[in-house]
Amino acid sequence: MALKQRSDLYRRARELIPGGVNSPVRAMQAVGLDEPVFMRRGSGAEIEDVAGNRYVDWVMSWGPLIFGHADPATLAAVVEAAEGGTSFGAPTRAEVELAEEIVDAVPSVEMVRLVSSGTEASMTAIRLARGATHRDRILKFAGCYHGHADALLASAGSGLATLGIPASPGVPSGAAGDTIVCAYNDVEAAAAAVARWGEGLACVIVEPVAGNMGVVPPEPGFLETLRALCDASGALLVFDEVITGFRVARGGAQERFGVLPDLTVLGKIVGGGLPLAAFGGRADVMERLAPAGDVYQAGTLSGNPLATAAGLSVLRRLRDPAVYERLETTSARLEAGLASFGRVQRVGAMLTLFMRDEPVRRFEDAQAGDAERYGELFRHLLARGVYVAPSQYEAWFLSTSHGDVEIERTVGAVADFFR
Ligand SMILES: *Cc1c(COP(=O)(O)O)cnc(C)c1O
Repeated sequence: MALKQRSDLYRRARELIPGGVNSPVRAMQAVGLDEPVFMRRGSGAEIEDVAGNRYVDWVMSWGPLIFGHADPATLAAVVEAAEGGTSFGAPTRAEVELAEEIVDAVPSVEMVRLVSSGTEASMTAIRLARGATHRDRILKFAGCYHGHADALLASAGSGLATLGIPASPGVPSGAAGDTIVCAYNDVEAAAAAVARWGEGLACVIVEPVAGNMGVVPPEPGFLETLRALCDASGALLVFDEVITGFRVARGGAQERFGVLPDLTVLGKIVGGGLPLAAFGGRADVMERLAPAGDVYQAGTLSGNPLATAAGLSVLRRLRDPAVYERLETTSARLEAGLASFGRVQRVGAMLTLFMRDEPVRRFEDAQAGDAERYGELFRHLLARGVYVAPSQYEAWFLSTSHGDVEIERTVGAVADFFR
């Protein structure tokens, strides 16, 4: 099937927007496209480009759309909210209700603050950890992405890894100099780092299931060890659950793996597809935030009515365990269908098909996958109406809109490629 002609949008975009896109991975360079696919609408598990080609979508806006595109209940909630005004810059009832919903769902979260992006949430969680501990250093893991704040742009996954940029110009050496980077799943390295720098360590931040180097589950004992190291050193444990929150379980990876952090960063699903993120955790730490405490953070559109309405609509429906049972079943089916074509790593409704046979435990393993081959697979699938993550360092995301039809079509197209 030949794709219908695309438009001149990319040419115009490149004259106006650096690289033609508003977030680097959208350029789809990692999979060898000479121009990105411009999308115009979506419905359920399907997305449509500006030329009218339709695809089964396994990207789902990088994870937020747990009920699929243009989910009617979410839309209704947003429209109703919009009719009452889009932003007040004053507190609203919906913010309190969303906070209640988050605190009820996420085991370690006692208090929460709403912000507008995952970057903002993790950046502020780091500031809060530093403010609360009066320490500067942070420990992160190679291949984990926590947004693009300066201190966190040391050896991040996704966009950076994809583009092969080790760190970014414009980040002062001082800002990244307090960031210690260890290999994911390497408990000895983490223990050695804490032994060496523990006194000055404000926090250890980790994706409890890595999703930005492809899906890499925590090995048994990894998260538990981080918890113990933090307890012994006085550093705070921060789980970046921007992807895993409300996805691998209602209460995120902390529920699924039974390890509780001090602070949790949320994004993506929590905003129901609108720009909303959050961070929360122990009340004594959260109360250090202004105006209750002295650690500053603010936001004009934080907790705005549209995003809060979308988040509330989605989170309320995620109280139903049947949602997670369905996601687990369909995800397991997709995994089984793909398993003979490479190394599939899955936790709940997120998975990656790595172009290698050996397990991927850390970033170096992911980098050893055949990116060229993955690019060929991506282009093959795109031509057959299947849109998967445009980089091997990303997850495929399932929604409740995905079912047997989408799985059969996708697995069939993948099988064709390997034939
Ligand atoms: C997407 C993501 C972020 C950043 O969120 P934005 O809303 O894109 O700023 C942070 N952490 C993780 C784990 C993510 O996947």
